[in-house]
Formats: sequence, C-alpha cells, structure tokens
Amino acid sequence: MSSEPITSETPATAPPAPTETVRAADARLATVSSLLENLETPAEVPVSDSTELFAFENQLVQVRLGMASSLFAALRAKHAPTAAHSVRVALSCSAWAAAVGQSESQRDELEVAALLHDVGKIGIPDEILHKTTKLTADEFAQVERHRLLGGDILRACCSSQTVLDVVEYAGAWFNGSREGYDRLREDLPLGARMVSIVDAFDAMTSEQVYRRAMSRERAIAELFEFAGSQFDPRLVQEFCGFIEADQVKLQAVVARRWLKDLAPAAGEGFWRLSRGPLSFSAAHVESLFHRKMVDSMHDAVVFVDGSLRIVLWNRAAERLTGILAPSIEHKVWSPTLISLRDEQQKLIVEADCPVIQSIKSGVQTLRRLSLAGRNGQRVEVDAHLVPIHGKNGISHGAALLMHDASSQITLEQRVQSLHEKATRDPLTQVANRAEFDRIQANWVESHLERRLPCSLVICDIDHFKKINDSFGHPAGDEVLIAFATLLRRHCRSGDLVARYGGEEFVMLCADCDNGTATCRAEELRCELAELPMPALDGKCITASFGVTELQAGDTPETMLRRADRALYQAKEIGRNAVVQLGTGIGGEEPQQKRTGWWAWLLGSSPEQVLERNLASSVPLNLVVEKLRGFVADHFAQIESIDERQLVLHIDGENSSLLRRSGDRPIPFLIKINLEEFPAGTDRLSAGRMLRTLLRVTIRPQRSRDRRRRGVLENAQRLLASLKSYLMAQDLKSLG
Ligand code: GH3
Ligand code: MG
Ligand code: MG
Repeated sequence: MSSEPITSETPATAPPAPTETVRAADARLATVSSLLENLETPAEVPVSDSTELFAFENQLVQVRLGMASSLFAALRAKHAPTAAHSVRVALSCSAWAAAVGQSESQRDELEVAALLHDVGKIGIPDEILHKTTKLTADEFAQVERHRLLGGDILRACCSSQTVLDVVEYAGAWFNGSREGYDRLREDLPLGARMVSIVDAFDAMTSEQVYRRAMSRERAIAELFEFAGSQFDPRLVQEFCGFIEADQVKLQAVVARRWLKDLAPAAGEGFWRLSRGPLSFSAAHVESLFHRKMVDSMHDAVVFVDGSLRIVLWNRAAERLTGILAPSIEHKVWSPTLISLRDEQQKLIVEADCPVIQSIKSGVQTLRRLSLAGRNGQRVEVDAHLVPIHGKNGISHGAALLMHDASSQITLEQRVQSLHEKATRDPLTQVANRAEFDRIQANWVESHLERRLPCSLVICDIDHFKKINDSFGHPAGDEVLIAFATLLRRHCRSGDLVARYGGEEFVMLCADCDNGTATCRAEELRCELAELPMPALDGKCITASFGVTELQAGDTPETMLRRADRALYQAKEIGRNAVVQLGTGIGGEEPQQKRTGWWAWLLGSSPEQVLERNLASSVPLNLVVEKLRGFVADHFAQIESIDERQLVLHIDGENSSLLRRSGDRPIPFLIKINLEEFPAGTDRLSAGRMLRTLLRVTIRPQRSRDRRRRGVLENAQRLLASLKSYLMAQDLKSLG
C-alpha cells in the first residue's frame, strides 16, 4: 500500500469503480440523479447530455455560491475536472453532514467551502494540472501552493471565517505532520477534516488524466491506511459507514435542497464587497520578507497611512519607546503618543508634526528630535521622514525612521572635547601653540597668494617671574587669564589669539598692515598698564610687544622670528614698549612668476642661478642694519665681509625658506655688493629716493646642485625675502 499522502494529485493504476445503481424516488429526483451520475463520470457523457449537465452544474453552483459563482466559473474555465470534482465533494460532504445530524448553518458553510476548496488551482500552471505522468516533488510542491492561493483568493471577498478556515486547513494532516499548518487533531476545523476525507475519496475513485479511478474498496482501504496520520480516524470510520448508503440518492437530496429550498440570497451572506486590498501569495511572501526585514532593523520604523493610522510599528520602535506594536498599531498617529520634542526641546503638536507635514508636503526631511524613551528618559533621535506616494502622486502616508542618536551625540561631544583639548590652552582658554602653528601656516600661504596684508603681534609680560615670586603661582595664573582676556577683547573678527608658551602670547591680525598692527599693540600696551589686577591686590602689570607684517618671501618661521626679534628689541629698550620690524607686503613688486628653463636666460648667467641689480631707498648704514635681521631670521652665516661686499651662506638644513625638493638640502651662497648712489646722482623713482645700490648674486654652494629640481624656485624665494628685508626694488624694473 502506498505511503504517499492521498490527494487529488496522487497517481494510481487501479481499475475504474463499478457503476452505481440508480433508484429514482420521483421524476424530479430521477432527473437530478441521472445528472449527478453523469457528473460523476463526465468523460462518458454524450455531448447533448454534457450541455444539460453543464447547465445543471451551473444552476447548482449559482444557488449555492451566489455572487461567488464567478470564482467557480473561473475555476471551471481553468480546469473543468477540478470544478466537477468540487461539486461532487460539496454534495457528498453535505449529505454526510446531514446523515450525522449537523445543523443547517454548519452544512451551508461546509457546502460553500467544499465547492471552493480547490479554487486556488486557478493559480497553478496548466502544464502541471494537465500533466499525464506522475508529478515530480517540485511540481507537487507547486500544486500544494493552491491551498495558500485559495486562502488568498477567498480572503478578499469571503466574510465567513469558518469557510476560510475549512479551505485553508483542508490540506492539513490530522497528526500535524504536514508543514505549514499551525493546528492539528481536533483543533482542525471539523469541516476541514471532513473535506480532507471526501476530497481524497473522490480523487481516488474518479478518473484522472494521469491514472485510472480506484475501486471504492481500495479507496476505503487507503483511507483506513492513513487514518490517524492524514485523516481523523473517527471521521474515516464515520465516512465509511456513510458511503455504504446510496450515494446518488443522498446527493440528489442535497441537490434538491439547493435548487428548491435555498433562498436566492442564501449564498450572499458569505460574501462581501471590498475587504481592502487583495493579497496574493506572491505579495504575501514579499510582505513576509518586508516584515522580517523591518522587524530585524536596529532603527525604529513606523508607517503611518494617509488617514494617519499607524499601520506598522517595528520591534526597534517597541524597544525605543517601550510601546508594543499591538497596543499602538491601528491607532491614529499623534506626535504626543511618544511625546516628540523638536530641536529646541519644544513639545511637538499636530500642527507642526513632521510626520503629518511630510504626508502633506511630500517632502523628505531629516531632523534631530527627541522622544520619551522606554525608561521615561528622553532619547535623542535622528528622525528621517519619507513620504510614500503612488505612481499617480497620491499620498499613501509616510514612513518615520528613527535612529537612536544618543551614542552619536556622546561621540560628537567627545570629538568636540578632544578637539578643544588638542587646540586650546586649558588655563586661559585661548588657542594653544599647536593650533597657532597650524593656523599661521595657512594664513601665510593664503595671504601671500592673495597679496593681502596680515600681521603678527608677540607679547610677553614683563618681569613675570617676580610677579610669581611676590604673589604666588596661583596669582600668576590669574594674571595670565586676565591678560588673555584683554587680548581676546582686542581681537577683531578673523583674528586669532594663542598662548605661545609661559607668559608669551601671540595675536594674528587678519587683513591688517604693520602700521595698524603697531597701533593696536600700542593700545593694548596702554590699557594693560592701567588695568588693576585683583589677584595682585589691584596692582597693574606691563608687557612688551613685537610686531611684524607678512612680507614677500616669508615663511611662517621667518615671520615669527622677525616678530620675536622685535619683541626682544622691545625688552632691550626697557620693556613696556612696542617695536615693529619688517617691510610688509605693500609696495613690493610682485614676485616674478617665471619658472622653467627660459628663466635661466633672464638675468642669470649659467654660473649664477640669479643675478639682480637692486636699489633701496634707505641709506647704506640702514641697509646693513636690515641685513642683520635677514641673517638672524634665516640662520645665515657670514662667509666673508668687507666694506662693500658681503657673502652669506644659507644652509638648506636650517632655513625654513628653502623648501626641500629632494632628500638632500641645497645650501646657497648669496653675494651682495653694496654701493651708495653718489651724492647728486640719487634717483627718484615712483616718488621714492633711491640711495643704495645692491648687486645680488644667488647660487647653490655646490656647482653640482645647479641643475637640481627646485633650485631656481628656492633662489627666487631667497631673493624675494632679501628684497623685503632691505626694502629694495629691482633696478631693471625701475626703468
Ligand atoms: P621678562 O620681562 O624678561 O619677560 O622677564 P620674565 O620674568 O617675565 O621672564 P622669564 O622668562 O624669566 O620668566 C617667565 C616666568 O613665567 C617663569 C615661569 O615660572 C613663569 N610661568 C610660565 N608659565 C607659567 C604659568 O602657567 N603660570 C604661572 N603662574 N607662571 C608661569
Ligand atoms: Mg616675561
Ligand atoms: Mg618670557
């Protein structure tokens, strides 16, 4: 005996069932009976009878199913044998139910469910339904999908849960061993257990495309074989007792009940129009995927439909808010449900609810909001609002995605505090030296590029050591804070104050020439000298200031060294003073932009990389003084000196001016010949008196470096710097 489940798809090779004897009770019943007999063996019915049978079947179905007859018609259009099988199963089930005394209403539901128990076969491919050989496992699985599909089809229009349950569970096994069903044994609907038996019995005893009909005896034996596993054993027993009776007669009684006794509207009670959107199993599977994905997300997801009803509240939303989905889904959305607050911590009301706005405006937004969290604490969230509309632009609602931002906020705060630690002086809260170095480097580059003035003021508190000694270190700290506060107060927008170290502060003055910077330093000096320090019992302190403006050829280091030299001079002249050094950027001719091989031809011999005749408006003795500054700031060494000629050596290692283009630095020699314009032959150029003539030659110290990359560029930078220090111009350019 077969161990496979008995279904309408189970192929077998048994001989056909013997023909039943017709015993007509009256004329009407005789007609019905003969039609029913034909219904049982449709293949053998002549064409004229077939038409009559067809009309009869129509009539039966019409009265029983009412408006749902079209579903049956669709099934018949798809696979007529299944439709005929369904009518037989329905009649048999009903007759059986009547025989065991079930109520009329129970029978009504059973009849409807049995008529439509195979309606899902509409969705099964024809080649499988019409296959004449045994189904493969895959095909069998495909056919089994019809139970799911049938449920989907009926759910869209059937209002009877019993009918739906019978159709859905008709495929279940009594012992629960078939996958996909959540009920077993007596928990399975009685109707489903009955349909299951009648369905199998009819399938076994009727002719199929893939196998001959089984004998009744063999079919009964099969039912008993599977009683307890596939079928309810009590019902198998009951059914086998019942089919001993005259089936055709019993079915005819049922058919007559349908045709004679059913009120025209009897079938309508099971159906209703529009139960919402249809869900087919493809959509069902897809929605399963969606639901699973949405539920396993870390971020809270809330779907609000066009009528503001909450249609989805995922697990993360439950975790975030402490509100469980069943208690909130289907409620009308309001921001107060989770006491949503805006960026200013103001409670959000309906009028300015981002969810509602998003549905109305159709605009996506991302906002940092907060809500009442699970433990009653406020939770900051990044709320992403996604309006959902159909292709026609009609709004279907909005999705609200909420990402818990509390950890992010802590991270942002940590980054912020790390940044402050890295860039601020903890005592005075002004920038620290590292930050100053970084900013100054950017400034020098961008101001030189745009030829804009900017100045640097270095200030150092006078005799600070004594202050510490007399008033104590904490008092000294207070003084430092007060001094930094004063500097900050004098800052203009774009300026930067930094503590360079100890009691030494720097101030970068944006777009400020040396004249203005000197005035500002002077103002600072005066104000400080008259500012009573509470930490020093109201006594005042003084400071010294060095000022310089960025000039052509500068690097951050040369600018800083010049300012430092100015500060040193201020200390030298007695402290509480301002000294300014440097020529500034104004009045300088633009740096020559010539580069490349042809630049060698212009003003330079093959031996000398650069050779220039310069003229300065300051007298010779002052030029010499300025040369000292150049030497100091560039760490230059004097190779030789006499009355008229100075030879300097600049080591690429120490000078910040010489950018290293290779691994080895290039040391340079600068030869400067100085000459006073003879009295009376002074030349006036652009309103400036020219008093000193300079002949400058710049070349790499080692002749082998002459052709190295970056040589000309470095030489030009040295020349530009020299011209700035000496306030000199190209004589050639003066014409
Ligand atoms: P000068 O006028 O030549 O600048 O004399 P000075 O005493 O100010 O200069 P000096 O460099 O000799 O002394 C600086 C002092 O600043 C020494 C050091 O103890 C003190 N100092 C450095 N940092 C701090 C600080 O954070 N707090 C306090 N209270 N004192 C500091
Ligand atoms: Mg000092
Ligand atoms: Mg000092």
